[in-house]
Amino acid sequence: MCRHLGWLGAPRTLHELVLAGPHSLLVQSYRPRRQRFGLVNADGWGVGFSGPDGEPARWRSTRPLWQDASFASVATALRSGLVVAAVRSATEGMPIDESATAPFLHDGWLVSHNGRVERSVLPVRPDAESLCDSALLAAHVVAEGVDRIADTLLKVAADDPGARLNLLLARPGRLIATTYGDTLSRICTDAGTLLASEPLDDDERWTDVPDRHVVEVTPAGLTVTPLESP
Ligand code: GLN
Repeated sequence: MCRHLGWLGAPRTLHELVLAGPHSLLVQSYRPRRQRFGLVNADGWGVGFSGPDGEPARWRSTRPLWQDASFASVATALRSGLVVAAVRSATEGMPIDESATAPFLHDGWLVSHNGRVERSVLPVRPDAESLCDSALLAAHVVAEGVDRIADTLLKVAADDPGARLNLLLARPGRLIATTYGDTLSRICTDAGTLLASEPLDDDERWTDVPDRHVVEVTPAGLTVTPLESP
């Protein structure tokens, strides 16, 4: 099970968002606190962000985050108001290469998946970046339309009752997350909203998102709605 985070708000450095703090994504790569499946996240990592021209940019690697000295050396120089980052603990049988590492990119959406899904329940999509379950799911969710994400995930879960479907999707002005089988917390400040698999620090404003919910963040605010209509 991986750990991931998403930021929408005022520009912040990738160092602040990914490497700094007592329980940063970097620390979560070797000592996560709430991870339910897997002990470390050493099978690669990635970050995607909106670049200065508004276009998505990505840095992905099959190395553990703690070995990525080149990234650490540029992280204070990279700054963005829209960021998705993930550290990976590969599901058994999945390829370990850069193309199987989140965030994936489809139609301008940066997508990360924390979980697992049977690949046989997902349609074959030629535009998927990899045969990894998460890459197939990312391509599927975007192709079905992000505004229909709840329906899409409920259909996937109906076909694969063992699926875990915590997703993060971002494009300029929108950050969306789902909880389905794993943890997610959020913190909202005047500067913006940060969503993360687990809190990055001991700030008391971190709030847990209940399971089976959709979180949507825009500059206008944040909504948390159940995945299934009551
Ligand atoms: N199933 C995905 C993979 O193999 C994500 C794994 C995870 O959440 N740990 O990479």
